[in-house]
Amino acid sequence: MHIQDVFQQHSVTFSFEFFPPRSDQAWGALFERISVFEELGPSFVSVTYGAGGTTRQQTHDLVIRLHRETKLDPIPHLTCVCHARSEIEAILARYAEAGMENILALHGDPPQGMAEYDPDRDDFRYAVDLVRCIRAFNDAGRHPDRRGFGIGVAGFPEGHPATLNRLVEMDHLKAKVDAGADWVTTQMFFDNNEFYDWRERCELAGIRVPLLAGIMPIVSLKNMKRMADLAAGTRFPARLLKGLYKRQDDPAAVRQFGVLWATEQCRDLLDHDVRGLHFYTLNRSDSTKQVFETLGAKDSSVLR
Ligand code: FAD
Repeated sequence: MHIQDVFQQHSVTFSFEFFPPRSDQAWGALFERISVFEELGPSFVSVTYGAGGTTRQQTHDLVIRLHRETKLDPIPHLTCVCHARSEIEAILARYAEAGMENILALHGDPPQGMAEYDPDRDDFRYAVDLVRCIRAFNDAGRHPDRRGFGIGVAGFPEGHPATLNRLVEMDHLKAKVDAGADWVTTQMFFDNNEFYDWRERCELAGIRVPLLAGIMPIVSLKNMKRMADLAAGTRFPARLLKGLYKRQDDPAAVRQFGVLWATEQCRDLLDHDVRGLHFYTLNRSDSTKQVFETLGAKDSSVLR
């Protein structure tokens, strides 16, 4: 569904993020869990592109499979990194033909293990350039929907490490919205006050599009450390760390505490009129499902 229709129909959106599995076994495991995700009734799901070193073709493959074989509505991520304009246009044409209605447009993390990566070789320097390219594709009438692709972009309530000037950073986010972004999905955060303050700053900057809050239930200490690396700048509050470290010898209790923390965050965000909750699922359904259950909801319709 086009994102503008999603926002019209859902007063609060619930979305799940997947990454393309790296082995046949992991593909099988994800599709075994798909029915659990379907039952939770998300507004859409999104699929990462090249994040953490995953293969890009597999983003396309996963998106198409989800579209054809499940009730889920997939949105592919697309990044500027290591792409020429012509390649991006070919990918857009392929997605438009396959019935994709929305794209999450990102700069992208530098490819892992590619020491010689040179950003100057990319046609797009920043995500805003990719947004403009998608907008031009839309304006040229190259998408079957007259509105073209719905466009999402990333936001960073705790700041993005490449821009230390927090005022200028807001200008960069505003530029993406002015270029045509329909919504912003945030980086994960563990302290809602960071989100509320950022939301107010967006308001001050004149950013009026829906802001979807990124939630990641912590599943293990190892996973938390990996995320701290991938999502550099994310702050882990002392109360969260204390709760996790106290349980460090009991992996099930660590996971349970991660669910509790995420549930409290979601409850509070819903009470504060969040426009959407976006779950970084790590392709696992158990924690996300437990958050829903603890909120007293068998599916997202109960929470809207
Ligand atoms: P940009 O908007 O280009 O911003 C990057 C930096 O450049 C910021 O510091 C910004 O302030 C600065 N900047 C922007 N415009 C200018 C300008 N004109 N002049 C100077 N500086 C400027 N990565 C992947 O590889 N694949 C994924 O699938 C993926 N999915 C993600 C999903 C979400 C919801 C989020 C939050 C992140 C995701 N990432 C993904 C990571 C993301 O690509 C990186 O964090 C990246 O460094 C920032 O991406 P961006 O789209 O915000 O980039």
